[in-house]
Amino acid sequence: MDLWEETLSMLRHSVEPYDFRHWLMPVTCAEVDAADHKIVLQVPDESHGRWLEDNFVTEIKDILRGLTEQDYSVSLTANDAPHAEPRSASISVSAQPAPPPEGLTTRYRFDSFVDGPMSQFAMTAAAAVADNPGSRYNPLFIFGGVGLGKTHLLHAIGHAAYDRDPSLRVRYVTSETYVNDLIAAIRNDRMQSFRRRYRDECDVLLIDDIQFIAGKDRSQEEFFHMFNTLHSSRKQIVMTCDQLPQSIPDMEDRLRSRLQWGLIADVKPPGFETRVAILKRKAEVDGVELPDDVAMLLARHIKRNVRELEGVLMRLDASARMMRRLIDLDLAHSVLGDLLNDHLRRVRPDMILKAVCQEFRVTLAEMKGPRRQRTITVPRQVAMYLVRQLTDESLPQIGSHFGGRDHSTVINALKRVEMLREAKPELASRIDKLTRQLRD
Ligand code: ADP
Ligand code: MG
Repeated sequence: MDLWEETLSMLRHSVEPYDFRHWLMPVTCAEVDAADHKIVLQVPDESHGRWLEDNFVTEIKDILRGLTEQDYSVSLTANDAPHAEPRSASISVSAQPAPPPEGLTTRYRFDSFVDGPMSQFAMTAAAAVADNPGSRYNPLFIFGGVGLGKTHLLHAIGHAAYDRDPSLRVRYVTSETYVNDLIAAIRNDRMQSFRRRYRDECDVLLIDDIQFIAGKDRSQEEFFHMFNTLHSSRKQIVMTCDQLPQSIPDMEDRLRSRLQWGLIADVKPPGFETRVAILKRKAEVDGVELPDDVAMLLARHIKRNVRELEGVLMRLDASARMMRRLIDLDLAHSVLGDLLNDHLRRVRPDMILKAVCQEFRVTLAEMKGPRRQRTITVPRQVAMYLVRQLTDESLPQIGSHFGGRDHSTVINALKRVEMLREAKPELASRIDKLTRQLRD
């Protein structure tokens, strides 16, 4: 592991998962100067750099000090800076002279993506798009739950398209960055350069988590026109989303229909064998010795999300290093005891529904029925949320316990409860109480 990878793996434990993914994972190391105690990090764009500077640089320095016992200076270079010289990582293993296209994470390539039956279709479509951008599947719309490899595939398309044809201008942004760029452009009266950036100077546009532009009128409007321009000049557009176009709430109809023009491919949670393969690949890449029986133990219990699998592997690796011992079943049990037990302890959906009905004084029939009064919708959404938290059920399975509601209703319920949890501490504590009660 190089110094930045090591720093990242420490940050992963201390930073909120969302922040980690959004702000830190896209950062690559451009240079480490061990003699001068200097590290140069490459960020997708200037605004990303500013944010990093304001929020993470102190912590990054602390970690570097912990790892090297030296005070490192951290400088940031943006891919979109006017004179940014692309640099290759100084401790890079592969001989890859070409600079990566804007904003792409080096690790997210097709060859590091473990192909399984549940993601085969999306992977094949992504590979076809990278081979021949702007032709057959345009736009490509990849959707699926969190931590299932959507962002990974999106970056992989960018790398592969660029590797095939380095003259291609590949642009990767999260839709949040897109929205922020737009707001900045409006405020600074720079719409022309905004449009040039996204419409003219772009052959492959990769937009991550498109659902964030829902409900934002001006962004949708601008996106709509950009989409039309790119599409009619046969430029490739690839989007990821946490749900199907037709299920995204607050999305303009004309835009929704554009999202459905091309190919829609989903990624689903990988099966057991794929989970084992992912763990082994990951261990190999990170130089972690992971025995088969431990890989299987982890894969048996952590089912829903690849990011969680990776997190567990890192935790195990960190403990093994700290205790200076090898990873084995004993260590896995002692380090991950609670987590594995949590996954083992079976809470059934019917137990959850019953507990929520009692807590909120509604009947099971009301919970499953069509009524939409707040006194019933809130408990119904809380119950869906708890089923999601405490069982391995898929979204459609969860919906089926509530009078056959579909997965998008469940997604919206989960989001709503997340929001209510923040806004209403007394509801949050009722939910926590229910969680404890159900787990014991
Ligand atoms: P999403 O965007 O769907 O939330 P990510 O693409 O960020 O998920 O994936 C989460 C993590 O899991 C990443 O580190 C990614 O590399 C890894 N991952 C997901 N699916 C696979 C896979 N099939 N093979 C290898 N790694 C994977
Ligand atoms: Mg993602």
